[in-house]
Amino acid sequence: MKAVYYTQAERFSVREIDLPEIKEHQILLKVKACGVCRTDVHLHHGEFMAKYPLIPGHEFVGEVAAVGKGVTEFAVGDRVCADNTELCGYCYYCRRNQPLYCENFYSLGVNGPGGFAEYVAVNRDKVFPLNELSYDQGVMVEPTACAVHGLDVIGVRPGDEVLMFGTGPTGLILAQLLKHAGAAKLVVAASDERKLEVARELGADEAVKLDRQDYSVHERELRERFTRGFDIVIDATGAKEVIGHMTKFAKKGAKIVIYGVASHDDEVSFSPYEVFQKELKIIGSFAQTHCFDRAIAYIRGGVVRTEPLVTHRFPLEEFGKAMEQVESGRGHIKVVVDVR
Ligand SMILES: [Zn+2]
Ligand SMILES: [Zn+2]
Repeated sequence: MKAVYYTQAERFSVREIDLPEIKEHQILLKVKACGVCRTDVHLHHGEFMAKYPLIPGHEFVGEVAAVGKGVTEFAVGDRVCADNTELCGYCYYCRRNQPLYCENFYSLGVNGPGGFAEYVAVNRDKVFPLNELSYDQGVMVEPTACAVHGLDVIGVRPGDEVLMFGTGPTGLILAQLLKHAGAAKLVVAASDERKLEVARELGADEAVKLDRQDYSVHERELRERFTRGFDIVIDATGAKEVIGHMTKFAKKGAKIVIYGVASHDDEVSFSPYEVFQKELKIIGSFAQTHCFDRAIAYIRGGVVRTEPLVTHRFPLEEFGKAMEQVESGRGHIKVVVDVR
C-alpha cells in the first residue's frame, strides 16, 4: 500500500510499504480521508512524542476492509471513523481511571502507524460507525472529540463571557460547543478576517481583528470594549506571544485555558501576584480520550457544524504540499488529505 513514511524528523516520502496485519481484535480500515492538524507540523519537526519510523495522520475515516476473527460488530464495507488513542490499562494513571495521562500513551499517527496511508489497523473498541455522517463530517470527529474534552476541562458556567484567540478548526469547533454549553458572550480574536467571518457564522457574538505586528492595537480594543474582561480566556493559537498576554483580559476568578499546541521550548512569563490576587485558574486541555461518542452526537445533532471548516484538499501523493499549507498558517481552516 501507499503511505507517507517518515524515517526521521523532516524526512519523508510517499512510498509503497506492506499492508498492516490485523490481530483478532482489530479492524483493517481502508482510509478515505485524513485531516492534517497543527500536531502533524510539530511531529514533522520531531516534537510532540514523535517516534520514527512514523506514518503520521490521526484524523482518519474510511471503510472497513477486513475484520479480525474476534470482531462481530463491524462488517466489511461499514463506513467508520476511529479514535487514534490506545491506552495501556495497567499503568499508574490508567489504574486511577485517568487514562488521558497514560504513561504508555500510544496514539496512531503520533507514535504508531496512522492514517496518511491507504490502510490502517485499528482496535475494535476505538472504531465508531459514521452511519449517515459524510466522510467530510467524519474527518472532523477527532478534532471535535478534542474540543469536547476541552469543554469538559473548562467547565463553562451558564452566562460566562468567553474570549478565544484563534480560528483554527478545533478552536471554531470549541466555539460552537461553548455557546451551546451556555456562554452568554463569545468573542473571537484572530488575524484573518475571512476566518473571523466564519467564526461569526458559527456563533461567535463578536470578532476582533488580532494585529500580529502590533499587539497593543487589539489589546487596546479588547480592553476598551470589554472593560471588565472575561470569565474564560482561551488560547487556540499555540503562539507564545498570544499566551503571554492572556491574563490581561481575565476577570477576577477567571480561567485561563491553554488549548492550542505551543512549541516545546516556548516559555511565557506571568505575574504570580496577579494569579494570586485575581484567583486565576490556569487550565491545560490536551488531546482526548473517550470523547468520540459525544463528538459524533454533537455533529449528528447539528450542534457542531463542520462544513465551513474544510477549505483545502490534497491527494495523498501531495502530502508535502498539504503540510506546507498547514505550516504556512495562511488562508486555510482545515486541510484534508484524500486517499484513493
Ligand atoms: Zn489533530
Ligand atoms: Zn496506561
